[in-house]
Amino acid sequence: MANVIVIGSYVTDLMTLTPHLPKPGETVLGGPFQMGPGGKGANQATAAARSGSHVTYMTKLGTDIFGEQALQYFKNEGMNVDYIKQDPTEITGTAQIIVDQHSENSIAVALGACGKITKEDVYATEEKFKGSDIALVQFETSMEAIQTTIELASKHHVPLILNPAPYRDFPKELLTKVSYITPNEIEASELSGIKVIDELSARKAAERIYEMGIPHIIITMGKQGVYLYTGEGTGELIPAFSVHAIDTTGAGDAFSGGLAHSLAAGKELKESIRYANAVAALCVTKLGTAPAMPHKEQVEHFLK
Ligand code: ATP
Repeated sequence: MANVIVIGSYVTDLMTLTPHLPKPGETVLGGPFQMGPGGKGANQATAAARSGSHVTYMTKLGTDIFGEQALQYFKNEGMNVDYIKQDPTEITGTAQIIVDQHSENSIAVALGACGKITKEDVYATEEKFKGSDIALVQFETSMEAIQTTIELASKHHVPLILNPAPYRDFPKELLTKVSYITPNEIEASELSGIKVIDELSARKAAERIYEMGIPHIIITMGKQGVYLYTGEGTGELIPAFSVHAIDTTGAGDAFSGGLAHSLAAGKELKESIRYANAVAALCVTKLGTAPAMPHKEQVEHFLK
């Protein structure tokens, strides 16, 4: 079985549909309301677990009702929750999401406990790194948690996927210990200093990021697909699948989680990208983030 370790965020998504986004000081009556698990770490862990990987998920929750629900959710998804911490002094993360009738959104996130993961919390998972095929981390938690995850993966020779979202400043020397990076166009632009708008600019940005010491650059480009660059003489746009998109939130998470699963299962990189594109395509055909991640059977059927 493919073993994946994910260190990252958990937030409870609290989503209300409204006719328009409220202006400052305005109250807008809306509905329906939907509540569910979210956060980049949780979304990606869900995508990998539903694809069939054995996922060890490490995050930090409060001891409030949202934290209890989150723990139950991870158990129901079949993940190893042994390393999830609960901190009675912190709240469980929340994201208050307002979506209008044109699918425009406005989001306020309180990371709470998952923004306070310490290096000791990550070190507590060290045993698990030893048996993992892939490690996966995002930028939606504390920098010390991200840094420690990258260090541990490197120490135990576990290939690591870094999804640098949401983008923020970080010590660039860490990149020499990253095996795969999956920025979207905005994050690739921030990282490289080259504005990514098309295939040509994606190539230039990928070359620049490659020079920073990462051997596999995978820039996700929405419905265009992904730009893959693995060194001189390479570089190609791998198209996305054509589907009727309903809600593209979580597409990047679906992609990184699907990629982690497929690589952990020992598949080639291009085959894994095709698999991840399928996971992401199925995700955008549904509303929501973690609950919108497809199961293995659906992905396999889609790829037939
Ligand atoms: P988000 O922030 O909304 O989670 P993102 O900006 O991180 O997404 P994108 O680059 O938009 O990520 O999308 C990730 C992947 O999802 C794409 O590479 C592609 O495989 C798939 N995807 C996104 N949008 C579509 C779409 N409309 N149709 C098919 N596949 C899509």
